[in-house]
Amino acid sequence: MNLTDLLEKNIEMFGEYPFIYFNDKTYSNIEVRDLANQMSVTLLELGVQPGDRVMVCMPNLPEVIIGYQAIVRAKAIIVPVMYLLHEEEIGFIMKDSETKVVLTSEAVLNKVTAAAASVTQFLRVISVDGPSRPGVDNLYQLMAVSRGHGESTGPVERTTEGIVEDHAIQGTGMNESDEENQSDDETAVILYTSGTTGKPKGVCLTHKNLYSNADSSANNGDRERGTTIGVLPLAHVYGLTVANICYLTGSAVVVFSKFDTDLLFKAIEQHKIRSFSAVPAMIHAMVMDQRSAGYDLSSLEWVGSGSAALPLTLSTAFKEKFGADVYEGYGLSEAAPVVSAHRRDLEHKPGSVGVPIPGVEVRIVDDNGRELPTGEVGELIVRGDNVTPGYYKNQEASKAALRNGWLYTGDLAKQDEDGYLYIVDRKKDLIIRGGFNIYPRDLEELLTRHPAVSEAAVIGVPSQRMGEEVVAYVVAKQGQTILEEELLTYCQEHLAKYKTPRRILIVDALPRNGVGKVLKMRLKEVARNSDL
Ligand code: ATP
Repeated sequence: MNLTDLLEKNIEMFGEYPFIYFNDKTYSNIEVRDLANQMSVTLLELGVQPGDRVMVCMPNLPEVIIGYQAIVRAKAIIVPVMYLLHEEEIGFIMKDSETKVVLTSEAVLNKVTAAAASVTQFLRVISVDGPSRPGVDNLYQLMAVSRGHGESTGPVERTTEGIVEDHAIQGTGMNESDEENQSDDETAVILYTSGTTGKPKGVCLTHKNLYSNADSSANNGDRERGTTIGVLPLAHVYGLTVANICYLTGSAVVVFSKFDTDLLFKAIEQHKIRSFSAVPAMIHAMVMDQRSAGYDLSSLEWVGSGSAALPLTLSTAFKEKFGADVYEGYGLSEAAPVVSAHRRDLEHKPGSVGVPIPGVEVRIVDDNGRELPTGEVGELIVRGDNVTPGYYKNQEASKAALRNGWLYTGDLAKQDEDGYLYIVDRKKDLIIRGGFNIYPRDLEELLTRHPAVSEAAVIGVPSQRMGEEVVAYVVAKQGQTILEEELLTYCQEHLAKYKTPRRILIVDALPRNGVGKVLKMRLKEVARNSDL
């Protein structure tokens, strides 16, 4: 099955049902399909060829989903980019992926045009919600021209006259070659990893990778048609897969262009939401926001959490406040993304990231790739239809991550006798102080159990004497003050001496990326440049 088949199947089974709720607008599956078909004709007219890269860089808007469908229908490759990135980071991705067209919105247009100016290739910039102007075209004007209605008022370069007739069956946006099936092994998406551990790498995800992962994830859940919340960035693999699961289950999605807890509570009440996918930072914000008291949130049964470690204190606080479970799962871009999740028909083990989803094999191995006994900590490796064929134009990174058919995740984990996985930490984040291993996550869990601590991040900094030293960054709970000495004493009371942080710095906020992950690289940079 490829994504085109998935979209067709969705229309057959759920065409008339609502798919997107956005502000006051509702789009059915058919409406989204029709817009996507028109948009794909426009892309073909602009000269987009099968396999070309089309970047989508904007906040969550219906046009992100429509754009993704259009790119798939044009047999091009989607390059989703988090709109919060800096223009230099966007420029890096444009260059690396050799983007031909970028779909964007006014909210980020300045950044995107500045990034486009920094690359050498010819690149079309299309705004979905702003006027045409030199160097930028308005999407809907282009689409009107494609349909033969209206005039192009923007500087549309008709470089590919007749391409619609040549390459597409008019009005469908589908290539003639659609009659032959598109190979499931072709790349559908190049997803740049969040760069929390270094320069972003373009993960190639094929149609098969994405389809199989959405299908297994849906089978792992309750596969019921319903309405969910699209609050995760659609530019992240986690958000993208939530949309793919909706195609399979016929579910609708309430799209949010920014994360706002009050709007989230309102949507849960209005749409009687039973479950949705989130990240720990969102769950934390929901727990902290007292405005929830003004809403009836009793429909909420569970929330899925992934993309970063979920502190146990947080899942407990969420359950106490909302009466709903937080089911933690685990995944990574390279696995399209879900590797493991909690199944509703099996025991819920808080602290674990559940069991491997159907079709995904896992092993825990030592540094020589040898499988370790149950319960021992080692690197988690993954095999299955969901695993990437490699990084875009980066053989070195591909060879390092993909060995003998297994994806080396770079994450340290253990598995219990029931097959439940526990993520211990990232291999790269492991601190080795004086020859002893220290897992930052253990310290972060301990620090967030302190009554005055809201969030914590622990890193290793180079030390001549010890190899590495432990440094913690801590955010206090609102209205509370804490002193470094107080927290150091608390750590000394609960930790082996060698694990006790050398410094605990109290900060207002932790640097986070678009899915709320702590940017430890940035903390390490800050630590390196300060006199700790
Ligand atoms: P980069 O590779 O550029 O640093 P990234 O690793 O953040 O970016 P993603 O694919 O977004 O790229 O994230 C995958 C990583 O997120 C996993 O390898 C793992 O370290 C972490 N992760 C995901 N889910 C969990 C979880 N439930 N608990 C702990 N860590 C998790």
